[in-house]
Amino acid sequence: MLYIGSHVGFNKNTQMLGSLEEALSYNANCFMFYTGAPQNTARSPIEDGLTLKALEKMKEEKMDLSKIIVHAPYIINLCNEDNFEFSTRFLTEELERVNALGVKYLVLHPGSHIGLGVEKGLDNIVKGLNIAFMNLKDNNNVTILLETMAGKGSEIGSNLKEIKYIIDHVEDNSHLGVCLDTCHLNDAGYDLTKFNDYLEEFDKEIGINRIGCIHINDSKNEIASHKDRHENIGFGTIGFNTLMNIIYNEKLENIPKILETPYVDKEYPPYKYEIEMIRNKTFDENLIEKIKKQ
Ligand code: FE
Ligand code: FE
Ligand code: ZN
Repeated sequence: MLYIGSHVGFNKNTQMLGSLEEALSYNANCFMFYTGAPQNTARSPIEDGLTLKALEKMKEEKMDLSKIIVHAPYIINLCNEDNFEFSTRFLTEELERVNALGVKYLVLHPGSHIGLGVEKGLDNIVKGLNIAFMNLKDNNNVTILLETMAGKGSEIGSNLKEIKYIIDHVEDNSHLGVCLDTCHLNDAGYDLTKFNDYLEEFDKEIGINRIGCIHINDSKNEIASHKDRHENIGFGTIGFNTLMNIIYNEKLENIPKILETPYVDKEYPPYKYEIEMIRNKTFDENLIEKIKKQ
C-alpha cells in the first residue's frame, strides 16, 4: 500500500491533533512533524489529553500510527564537542517525547563535523547515540532514522559508507534505521535514474529493512551539487518519472513517503495537489498555477 503524506506543522495548543488535521486536509495517509520549531530546541511538554484525542481520531480515520514520523530539530549536532552534552540530553528528551506520543520513528540528521574531520565526527555521533539510547526509560520503543544528507558544508551521511559506519558501531543498533531523502541523494551525487542500483548496494551494505521513511523531494540543483534545496515534485532536476519510480518501487511498499517540498510563493502549501498528482501517476505541468489559485 502507498503511504504518502507531507511535513505538517505542530503547535503547542493543538499538538499532534493539529498535525493530524492538517495532514487529513491534504488527503494524506501519513505525516511528519517537528515537536516544536525545526530550527530551535524550545519544546513544550506533551499533553496526554491532546495525544489521546489525536490517537482516537487516527483510529476513526484509519490512519496507521506506525506510519507517523517525527523529525528532530536540525540544530542538534552530535559531532559538535562544545554542545555535546546538550545535544545528547536533548536527543534523549526528544525520544521520550516521541514515545509519549506513541510515534515509532524519529528522523535525525547525523551531524556536521565542522572541521573536526569525518572520522572524529563519525565517532562523536556513535558516542552521542550510545549515550542517548542508554539514558532512555525501559519502555521506550522509538527508532532513530539517520537521514541521508546532501553533503552541504561538512555534513556527515552523504554516502552509504558513513551511514553504515554509524549503524555498525552503535552498541545496540536494534533501534537504528535510515531515512532516504531523494533531493539529498541527488545533491550528494547519486544518479536516481539508476535508483535500483542504489537500492541493491544499500541492501548489501545496510539492509533494506533498515529504511523506515523516505523523503520525496525534487531538487533545484544538478546532481552532485551538494546544495540541498528542495523543489516541487516534477519541477526540478530529478523529475516526475524518476520520483514516481522510487515512490512506487515494490521493495519500498508500505514505507511512509513524506513530501518536504516548498510552499509556492512561500504562501501556498503544495501537498494536497502533489499527493493527488502522485496518486494519479500523471504529471500536471499546470500544478503550480493550480496551487496558487487554491
Ligand atoms: Fe531532514
Ligand atoms: Fe529530508
Ligand atoms: Zn533537505
